[in-house]
Amino acid sequence: MIDAHIHIEFGEYTPEYIECMVNTALAKQIKELRILDHTHKFIEFKPIYDIIRLDPFNCNWYDRKRPVPLNDYLNFIVKIKQKDYPVKLRFGLEVCYFKEKEDELRTILNQYDFDFLIGSVHFIDGFGFDLSQENWEGKDINHLYRRYYEINISLIKSGLFTSLGHPDAIKLFEKYPDYSLTETYYRIARLLGEYNMETENNSGLIRYGFPYPGLNQEFLDILKKMKVKINRASDAHKIEDIGRMFNQLEI
Ligand SMILES: [Zn+2]
Ligand SMILES: [Zn+2]
Repeated sequence: MIDAHIHIEFGEYTPEYIECMVNTALAKQIKELRILDHTHKFIEFKPIYDIIRLDPFNCNWYDRKRPVPLNDYLNFIVKIKQKDYPVKLRFGLEVCYFKEKEDELRTILNQYDFDFLIGSVHFIDGFGFDLSQENWEGKDINHLYRRYYEINISLIKSGLFTSLGHPDAIKLFEKYPDYSLTETYYRIARLLGEYNMETENNSGLIRYGFPYPGLNQEFLDILKKMKVKINRASDAHKIEDIGRMFNQLEI
């Protein structure tokens, strides 16, 4: 079993932290950990967030992040890869995708050689949909869903990523459009195949009080039918969440 999406986030770039991760993985019969951090954690990606920082709410969110140099992470990866662990470790990034910043992202990402890159949509035209439920007040839900999936489609077509992160995370506050998403799910599944990308069944929305872990059943069924490679993912931000609810995540 693989856990394909684990943040260091609040942890430290130390071998001791990795050892704790590895021990937790072993206890949960997980054979591979894909470890990452958000791009907002690194100074090199600050220009990518320019467009969302125009908004005071987003700016406040971003400015609390206190980014560090990417080299802190890269040097740590080199150090860890010199050691042997009883679990396979791969290192990557969860990249916040903005269509408007695709060229800049490409320039930055081309400089590095990560084991994997997850592309995720966290902002819809400047709206950080997972940052606050209150900010959904008065929003046009159909429009947000349409834009969310248009941006996901651009993300896939950018060719920058190996995997699409939490592809239905927009449902996190249980607000749903009044049109059918079936066609959209097929389109995403077809494109993932075309661009040779994986995706994930991610239990992370549980953190927001979402009622079930992972993908919408129809979306999952379509991804499986279209033979898209799906990985289980905890989106753990703390070690104890590695492998969270994997017994309930079908792939
Ligand atoms: Zn994410
Ligand atoms: Zn994540």
